[in-house]
Amino acid sequence: MKNKRSCSFCGRDESQVNFLITGHDGNICDSCAEQAYLIVKDTLKQEPEEDNMQVSLSDIPKPKDIKAYLDQYVIGQEAAKRYLAVSVYNHYKRLTQQTDRKDENVEIEKSNIIMVGSTGTGKTLLARTIARLLNVPFTIVDATVFTEAGYVGEDVESILSRLLQVADFDVKRAERGIVFIDEIDKIARKSDNPSITRDVSGEGVQQGMLKLLEGSIVNVPPKGGRKHPDQDYIQVNTRNILFICGGAFDGIERKIAQRLNTHVVGYNSVRNAQSIDSKNLMQYIEPSDLKSFGLIPEIIGRLPVLAYLEPLDKDALRNILTEPKNSIIKQYVRLFEMDGVELTFTRDALDLIVEKAEEYKLGARGLRSIVENIMMDAMFEIPSENKAKFEVTREYAQKQLGKSNL
Ligand code: ADP
Repeated sequence: MKNKRSCSFCGRDESQVNFLITGHDGNICDSCAEQAYLIVKDTLKQEPEEDNMQVSLSDIPKPKDIKAYLDQYVIGQEAAKRYLAVSVYNHYKRLTQQTDRKDENVEIEKSNIIMVGSTGTGKTLLARTIARLLNVPFTIVDATVFTEAGYVGEDVESILSRLLQVADFDVKRAERGIVFIDEIDKIARKSDNPSITRDVSGEGVQQGMLKLLEGSIVNVPPKGGRKHPDQDYIQVNTRNILFICGGAFDGIERKIAQRLNTHVVGYNSVRNAQSIDSKNLMQYIEPSDLKSFGLIPEIIGRLPVLAYLEPLDKDALRNILTEPKNSIIKQYVRLFEMDGVELTFTRDALDLIVEKAEEYKLGARGLRSIVENIMMDAMFEIPSENKAKFEVTREYAQKQLGKSNL
């Protein structure tokens, strides 16, 4: 007679379970296997915590390696890449110092970063790429949704709720993450003078943000949004969280020009005035310009690394289309390849895309929607046609753009 098989863990026999997995000297039923899996998962999640805390310097890519990695995805922006690479390296160096320091008495201070540059020049892309390289939790938040406590909008603490969510509520991991705060310029106070009237979404929010930036223990509402008396809070220490702020600071060039102008009325005026490249004033940005724009000095002090991004010219836009590892054109070529179609763009067609992107003044951000509009019909039709090749010419692109509502 055939032996009745049963689960070696719970003892139930074959007829009482969905199925049994047979091992060398016993069986396990589906529900015990599932339980076992959960135990394994939980244990593994707890164990590395101790190890993860030990950041070792040899694990951190060197600034040059960080920059080389960024080069694969981000075109141009040399200065910003160098600043970022160095400050991120120093940030993680600082973490190693905390874990294995015995005899150190120099404490390295945190250096949060602020990136200034017009929209679509790669600020978010840089931050995101760095986070991917370092494999740390990363989140993007928009400063415009925050208002001073007590007003409609989100509390600044909810910035950390999002970080906790991406870290699967692993507080230790979240505490080493990177937060990108976009549109920081939108919480600038409306004038350089402290206001007498209430400035709900400006200075008050900046004050609230100070606490996060400088490193303190913050009560975070796990679900984000508004703090609520009935909610349980999770305590998060922001000491080792790297904050990268970004903003377009529209019109800051005027402030820079004003400052440069007043400075050049001096002894060295002639030489200085000549060496100023008036087409790209952003490169002369200084913390004092951020103050003129309406950031409070305390915030500026907590964002000691000031990086600027250059406006993207035609060459840069063109390179962005084709060069990065996952460039827009490469993505479309891949999409078509999956249908067995070889997709190509003529040089003229690419030029047209770049010209249009310049016209829309959205930086590289416009590129994708332009290409999307050009390709829409082809993407609809080609999969059902038996074509081996498809070439996008300038004429075709022009015709498609003419049809679209761009
Ligand atoms: P922002 O400066 O407004 O944060 P993003 O980084 O979000 O701009 O850029 C929008 C998109 O444009 C990115 O997803 C990326 O595809 C493209 N892009 C912008 N700048 C660059 C760049 N320097 N190199 C490569 N791609 C870029």
